[in-house]
Formats: sequence, C-alpha cells, structure tokens
Amino acid sequence: QAKELGGNRTVFYNAEDTNRMNRRIAIEMGLRPALFLRQFHLSYQPIYRLSDGRLRGFEALIRWQHPELGLISPHEFIPIAEYNGLIIPIGEWVLREACKMLAGMTEYGLSGLTMSVNISPVQMQDPSFVQTVWNIIHEFGLSRQSVELDITEHIMMHSSEQSIMAITQLRAGGIRIALDGFGAGFSSLHHLMELPVHCLKLDKSFIRRIDLQSAERHVVEAIIGLMRKLGLEVVAEGVEYKEQYELLKEWGCHYVQGYLLGMPMDPTVIDTSMLGSFVDANGKKAAAGRV
Ligand code: C2E
Repeated sequence: QAKELGGNRTVFYNAEDTNRMNRRIAIEMGLRPALFLRQFHLSYQPIYRLSDGRLRGFEALIRWQHPELGLISPHEFIPIAEYNGLIIPIGEWVLREACKMLAGMTEYGLSGLTMSVNISPVQMQDPSFVQTVWNIIHEFGLSRQSVELDITEHIMMHSSEQSIMAITQLRAGGIRIALDGFGAGFSSLHHLMELPVHCLKLDKSFIRRIDLQSAERHVVEAIIGLMRKLGLEVVAEGVEYKEQYELLKEWGCHYVQGYLLGMPMDPTVIDTSMLGSFVDANGKKAAAGRV
C-alpha cells in the first residue's frame, strides 16, 4: 500500500490502528449516556487487617458494561472520562454508590468497616469536590473516618494549589486519604511528605516478586519499616500467594488486598454472605488454608 503511494512515504495507519480508533470513538460516544442508562456498576474488593486477619473494609471498583463492546476495564475508559471531563459526574456517582453500600452494610450489622474510593486528579481540581464529599457522607449518615479516598501520585505530578487545598481540607475534616499505586510510577518520598496522606498503598507490581530473592523484597520491607516510623499505614495490593501474605505480616504491613483474600465482588454476593456472618466465613476460609 505504501509503495502505491510512491516515493518514501510512510503509511501510519493500518487495520489495527483503525480498529483502535473506532473503539476509542465508540467509548467516547458511549460514555456520555452511560450514567443515565445505568451501565456502570461497582465491584467491591475486600481489604484485610494483618494483625488479626479480620476484614477492614472494601475498595469500590467501577465496571462498565457497554451494550456492544461488553465489559470495559476502568484502565481503558477512566483516562477518556478524565480527558472529556465526564469523570466529574461519574466520580460523584461512584462515591455516592459506594457510600450507599457502606451505609447498607452497617445496617446489616457489618459495622466499623471502611470504604475506599478511587478519586481522579481531575475531580480534585473541581472547586466543588470537597463540598460534594461532605454532602454525600452526610446524606448516608456515615462517619468521616469510614471513608477513604484513594488518590494517585499523578496528583503530585500535576499538583495544583486546588488539589492540595482539597486534600488538606478533607484530611482535616477527618477523611482518610491513601496514596494509591505507590512504587509504580514517579512517586518520591519528597512528594509523599508534601501531602497529608495517612496511608500508602503499595502497588501490585512491587508485591509480585517479594516472595523471591528479589530487589523488591528488600525495598518493600524497608518501605514498610519507614512508613511505620513515619506513623503511616501501609496496604499491600495484589497479594496472590500465601508466601507474600506471610512476609508482609512479618514485616509489619497493616493491611492486605488481593486475589488470595478475595476478588472484586458483586454487592449481591456480599449481601448473601453478610446474612451468614460474612466476617467469620472469611476468617474460617483463611484458617482453612487459603492464607
Ligand atoms: P487500583 O486502584 O490500583 O485497583 C486495584 C486493581 O487491581 C483493580 O483492577 C483490581 O481488580 C486489581 N487487583 C486486585 N487484586 C489483584 C491481584 O491480586 N492481582 C492482580 N493482578 N490484580 C488485582 P481494576 O478494577 O481493573 O481497576 C484498575 C484501576 O482503575 C484501579 O487501580 C484504579 O486506578 C482505576 N479505577 C477503578 N475504579 C475506579 C473509580 O471508580 N474511579 C477512578 N477514578 N478510578 C478507578
């Protein structure tokens, strides 16, 4: 095809590029009505406390069931929603839905749990964000300490006055702030010190190799020690093996999250398990050898 065009011309597109472009257009077009058409739902992944093996809470993770493209990963559509600004209404829906779920769980007797919600840097730049958080928490009668907002280090990279102010206000108001994906990108200790976070979430790419004689093993152990000295809590993400769980416990990591302990789950599953004492059922499963 390039030859037909003659000379040294390069053709920059092919069938694959065209497909990619069409998919992106379909996602962009589909995102706008998706909220109204109720195509989003949340999955909830459990987070466990290492000191006693009990449930600490859940992380809410958004899912999009597209009518033609099927289930689309947040990795694919969140950046597009951030680009076109739709992350603001979508993010508000996520926060409201997750808080509603937490209130429902409390009503069923699963009290004292936390709900973690991912917040995009674009939401943080919205001047009404802090008020939206207070309104939603108030709407469901939740305690501020039960809600954790997971921010990414991108907030540090593009930290505007607005986002720093928002985080500071939220933290001062009692909300828990966690720095998500620590170790995966450009995070630096300097950035970490700049923000009033109470918790650090170690990225799964870091956890993957800690059960081998790897550099990550020493780095993760050292980070946990350092964070404890600084009075920060640590959550290890992507825990898939028993050996990883045990090492993290030995090193004094506070919380763990990963397929070993529980996949992201549909709220209906949590409801059913709740009736049969969800916390105890998981505790027994853990004792029976999964961890
Ligand atoms: P994240 O916040 O780091 O969430 C953890 C991701 O790791 C989730 O992917 C989860 O399904 C996956 N995961 C959990 N345990 C394991 C494990 O043991 N092994 C492996 N390999 N993976 C595990 P998911 O749900 O596809 O979400 C991807 C990312 O999309 C999230 O990463 C978060 O950055 C973003 N995201 C998800 N929901 C939201 C949302 O409501 N708002 C915003 N702004 N971002 C969201």
